[in-house]
Amino acid sequence: MPEPESKTSSSITLDAALTVVPGIGPRRAEALRELGVRNVGQLIAYLPARHEREEGEAPIAQLQPDAIVSARGLVSATRVVAKGRVRFEAVLIDDTGRLDLTWFNGLYLKDKIKPGLRLRVQGKARRFGPGLQIANPKHEILGPDESKDPGARAARLRPVYPGSEAMPSHLIEQAINRVLDAALGHVRDHLDAPFRASRELVELTEAYRLIHRPTDEDQANAARRRLAYDELLMLQLAVQMKRAERLAGVQSPALSLTPKIDKAIRARFPFALTPAQDRVVSQIAGDLQRATPANRLIQGDVGSGKTVVALYAMLMSVAGKHQAALMAPTELLAEQHLLGISRMLEGSNVRIALLTGSLSTRERTAILAKIARGDIDLIIGTHALLTDTVRFHSLATIIIDEQHRFGVHQRAALRSKGDDASARPLAPHTLVMTATPIPRTLALTLFGDLDVSTIDELPPGRKKIATRVVPPASRREVYAYLAKRIADGDQAYVVVPAIDSDAEVGAELLRADEQGTEGSRDRGIEGGTNAGTGAIAPLQTSLRSVAQVAADLSRGSLKGKRIGQVHGRLSRDAREAVMNAFRRGEIDCLVATTVIEVGVDVPNANVIVIEDAERFGLAQLHQLRGRVGRGGKSSVCILIGAPITEGADARLSAIARMTDGFKLAERDLELRGFGDVIGLRQSGIPPFKVVDLSKDLDLLTLAKRDAEAFVGTSPGLSTPALALLRRRVLRAHGKWIGLADVG
Ligand code: ADP
Ligand code: MG
Repeated sequence: MPEPESKTSSSITLDAALTVVPGIGPRRAEALRELGVRNVGQLIAYLPARHEREEGEAPIAQLQPDAIVSARGLVSATRVVAKGRVRFEAVLIDDTGRLDLTWFNGLYLKDKIKPGLRLRVQGKARRFGPGLQIANPKHEILGPDESKDPGARAARLRPVYPGSEAMPSHLIEQAINRVLDAALGHVRDHLDAPFRASRELVELTEAYRLIHRPTDEDQANAARRRLAYDELLMLQLAVQMKRAERLAGVQSPALSLTPKIDKAIRARFPFALTPAQDRVVSQIAGDLQRATPANRLIQGDVGSGKTVVALYAMLMSVAGKHQAALMAPTELLAEQHLLGISRMLEGSNVRIALLTGSLSTRERTAILAKIARGDIDLIIGTHALLTDTVRFHSLATIIIDEQHRFGVHQRAALRSKGDDASARPLAPHTLVMTATPIPRTLALTLFGDLDVSTIDELPPGRKKIATRVVPPASRREVYAYLAKRIADGDQAYVVVPAIDSDAEVGAELLRADEQGTEGSRDRGIEGGTNAGTGAIAPLQTSLRSVAQVAADLSRGSLKGKRIGQVHGRLSRDAREAVMNAFRRGEIDCLVATTVIEVGVDVPNANVIVIEDAERFGLAQLHQLRGRVGRGGKSSVCILIGAPITEGADARLSAIARMTDGFKLAERDLELRGFGDVIGLRQSGIPPFKVVDLSKDLDLLTLAKRDAEAFVGTSPGLSTPALALLRRRVLRAHGKWIGLADVG
């Protein structure tokens, strides 16, 4: 990105206010500010979203039928035609002839386009009586000065900028054109000529010139390639610098693993590991035996058995007389991990504690003291683990469960907690786990310094989960079926998007987590998850809530059955009581919000009904469905939904057809596009301006290799030749990624 480099006598410097641009007054400057553009440098760095081919402008008499043409002229008459398809019509004239314009559904134009105005129009011309007509032309109202422009414009590629009503594309184009040459005079390239030549990259000012004013596709592509390369290079450099920083002089406990330790750990598991779990365990064990901090992503579908793999790493740490921490995104999941792990460790002398936000101050103080003294071996908790007051005695390993629900900052914060007791701090090994598989390009981008392990098979004996999508009209039948399953001794979940009244909907979703993870912003009906696949309707009064559904069921289909409720607003004790009762089989049907989305594991629960299913994202539906099918019995997932948008329809049919989380993730990607994929937004990475991850894999690979080479020569990019590059990397990425010397 261009940035101020030097002062000159000209007023068009890169950090000059927008009002230095001819034609930009306070109003347009404000409109540009709303698009994120604050000065001249940012204006020329504001890139077109695409380019459109535009024929040269010609006098009306010379326009050809059946071609995309441009012309300008005076509006001589307008009218609204209400017969048949409603349309707005105008007649455009110049010295040579007359052109008819028609806008279908164009009523809104009737106050904008009036006789006497000068217009520039573009569109496909058709024969119309003796002359020509353009249907739905693009138009631009010409100001008094513009009308004096020479009429003919050569054929060209026209840049199309993401604009706003107050600042449409052509005004942005005009503003950029007026300062581009002067501004580019201040821009220096951070890559030298031989390097550019070897990568076939155009020079930086050239790239900016060509992206704003290409004469043909090749020029636009060359410009795009250079700018995309830069974006990828900067990101990769930041990631690599971060890695170098992380590894510089940092030691982690090199844990030992003898056959005896391995045997003792496995003896704790109530089952043999699957081959996939075995493979991942040995990868992790390899990491932990080294003195460099491990940084590994473990991906495995819902139910693939990630918990025991994590436990293996934790017990290896404890065997080495260190501590291990497991961080979960919700209290409910943390509580469940505590329960499951305690059960497996029954009778051992491993000391476990739970650390969440809802501990009383006294409990918390007591536990913190024990953690600091080393009297606790395994700490299981939520992001409460991240607060400053938590001091570990000797933390060897951190495991972050369901990592996609956390932000990068939280991960980094935990990682920075090492062994506080000694003078030379040890960095803990880090393992992050996710059930949301990450496509390769994203993994490379987001997690450039992460090793990846995949648990690609489910434990034996899993039954397939039958999935049905039914309309709301069939709700009675669904619950009649549910009643029958419960009579047969099964348990069920009913998931709804809201806690109680509509007023609470937002509250539930905006609540800091069910307690404060960044990921929670991306869930549920808030719409974040579904962005890009069709509009999410405003919250509707018809949304069914926990309280309402529970009340309906206890009066109706499930009369006499034991119904529980759980959601993020219950106190920890209340929630624990409900979950324990459900686990013990004392509750038949649990009505819940998405608090049960991750991790909840009750094998006798075989039926899940999801209300307002069109409200949930694909990954979320898959996670929710993963709550059943955990025992030996056949399981059913029923989605009650009225798929009002195309996106919702596509999601529901995908979830009904596919059970494989990896395939679903691919489908999700197709439906939502790369920009919005899980992880990218929460990651804190600034969005790409030019890069398209679905197309730029080669460029990404090149940039990654180059970044490695740069950082290999100078880990902090601290040589004079790299100073400009370094400055730009820090400016683009230093903050979110947490590079030490953001200057
Ligand atoms: P996830 O990967 O979704 O976190 P969990 O770790 O919760 O999966 O495991 C899901 C269920 O599978 C749990 O009930 C767990 O006890 C069980 N499980 C895990 N590994 C095995 C295995 N190798 N054999 C049998 N059951 C297993
Ligand atoms: Mg899990």
